[in-house]
Amino acid sequence: MGFCVMNSGMIRDNLLNIQSTLKEGVRLIAVSKTKPVEDLQEAYDAGQRLFGENKALEMRDKHAVLPEDIEWHFIGHLQTNKIKYIAAYVRMIHSIDSLTLLEAVEKEARKHDRVIDCLLQFHIATEETKFGLNMEEARALLESAEYAAMEHVRIVGVMGMATNTTDRELVRKEFRTLREYKEQLAEQYFKGRDDFKEISMGMSHDYDIAMEEGSTMVRVGSSIFGARNYGIPVNDEK
Ligand SMILES: *Cc1c(COP(=O)(O)O)cnc(C)c1O
Repeated sequence: MGFCVMNSGMIRDNLLNIQSTLKEGVRLIAVSKTKPVEDLQEAYDAGQRLFGENKALEMRDKHAVLPEDIEWHFIGHLQTNKIKYIAAYVRMIHSIDSLTLLEAVEKEARKHDRVIDCLLQFHIATEETKFGLNMEEARALLESAEYAAMEHVRIVGVMGMATNTTDRELVRKEFRTLREYKEQLAEQYFKGRDDFKEISMGMSHDYDIAMEEGSTMVRVGSSIFGARNYGIPVNDEK
């Protein structure tokens, strides 16, 4: 038996294992980026319905061949010229990091006569490399006349990625900051509205901390599907 091969049933076992650790009210997004559709199908057959992808063309190709009742969550940096590949069916875009991007989503959603749920992505990590807004930028977006005029996007919460570190106290602090941002925005801009409620935070190595700090959606990839191999590109995004 080869030891680098994912055995049949392993995805199912991983998934059921993780599901058993979820706190009440927390939804699991199975992050399937770079993985073949057979792997997603195995997770689907084990009952998983929420999947996360970070490339628009990859999501399009997987959506085309997998069951219709999958909820597709876009979790990566989204280029405005790629929204058209996902606008007809994407359930939620977790990665809104500018007014320009939100305007482009509004425009594509309108073409399909849909309202697309979106999260504001915040930069909470100490690393420079991660995308995301700060509070000042988020406030400017929410106070803009452009946002006020939008009818095909609905902002339902926030998303963030903690620093990739073994320092669990730092990670906890960053998640706590994201929750505080969400609470401040809810108070200031979403009073009396119960649809602004999501906090998308937590990945394979830190979703336990994220749940303790109030996450409502955890995005777990490698703990379900195994490590990713970035050596072989699955899709040409250029
Ligand atoms: C890849 C990815 C995840 C999942 O990461 P794992 O460490 O494999 O669980 C979660 N969120 C985002 C934004 C990602 O790009």
